[in-house]
Amino acid sequence: MTDETSRFRARFWGVRGSYPTPGPRTVRYGGNTSCVEVEVGSQTIILDAGSGIIRLGHDLLRRSADGPLHISLFITHGHSDHLIGLPFFNPLYEPQTHIDFFGPRMDNRPIEQLVTPLMSQPYFPVDMRKLPSRRSFYTLDGHEHILWRKGESEPIIARIAQQPQEGDVHLMVTLTNSHPLNGAAIYRIEYAGHSLVYATDVEWKDQCEPAFLAFVHNADVVIHDAQYTTSDYEQTRQGFGHSTIEMATGVAAAAQIGHLILFHHEPTYDDDKLDAMQAGARSQFPRTSSAYEGMEIDLLMDAPTRGKQ
Ligand SMILES: [Zn+2]
Ligand SMILES: [Zn+2]
Repeated sequence: MTDETSRFRARFWGVRGSYPTPGPRTVRYGGNTSCVEVEVGSQTIILDAGSGIIRLGHDLLRRSADGPLHISLFITHGHSDHLIGLPFFNPLYEPQTHIDFFGPRMDNRPIEQLVTPLMSQPYFPVDMRKLPSRRSFYTLDGHEHILWRKGESEPIIARIAQQPQEGDVHLMVTLTNSHPLNGAAIYRIEYAGHSLVYATDVEWKDQCEPAFLAFVHNADVVIHDAQYTTSDYEQTRQGFGHSTIEMATGVAAAAQIGHLILFHHEPTYDDDKLDAMQAGARSQFPRTSSAYEGMEIDLLMDAPTRGKQ
């Protein structure tokens, strides 16, 4: 596994929901909002551009050492906790960088119009359209299959599944309506017989959508919204578009996944509360971990196989 293109690693740069929460009460899990980096094959895929993407940007530039940098950035939806870091994502300012933006159409706006207003007057002094990096935009309708052939950096986007060959990276997308008001995209990445799902900002009320369960089925790792305790949810948070621990573990069991990662932590919950929620979740689905900043999962080396425990 020393070959740089034979890799499937997820690294968490922001795990918090709604708004950043720096400070001593969140120091172990971290206070930055949603951002997960996935190094898969020869691709660098970033899931959401919350405040966690700022430090990732510094790290990517350090790792590329002024060489070319090609990134695929997948946005789930337009809420600020998933975009707030973008204006401070330093690779945007580098001529050596090429960023492919992917994301759903929201409120009739294609992905380009979802992200560029963040970096334009009067919200930000620098206009994204004038930056020296190269940017491409791909608006998704929820039925695409995106394929990167081994060693290629340009995506192939199709409406029907292309047959992946050994070494190809395959990404699928689906949309849910469970998050107000425009829903959110869910992404599934497959490589070398392993799979990772990123499903944040979802809420399953009485029962999970069958199409979602089919989409998640048998994944090795599922990063799932788990913002609330059941009591907080039942008292005041129903309809906010986020899940409880029980909803996340219910998905994990029903979809027969390998490992569940609790994500999009409620900003008012401190580290001790998240510890307790992780323990509670493990009593329902043992192969569960709560995401924290700096957490890494190597799907080729140490991801638990389905049914191993
Ligand atoms: Zn969110
Ligand atoms: Zn949201």
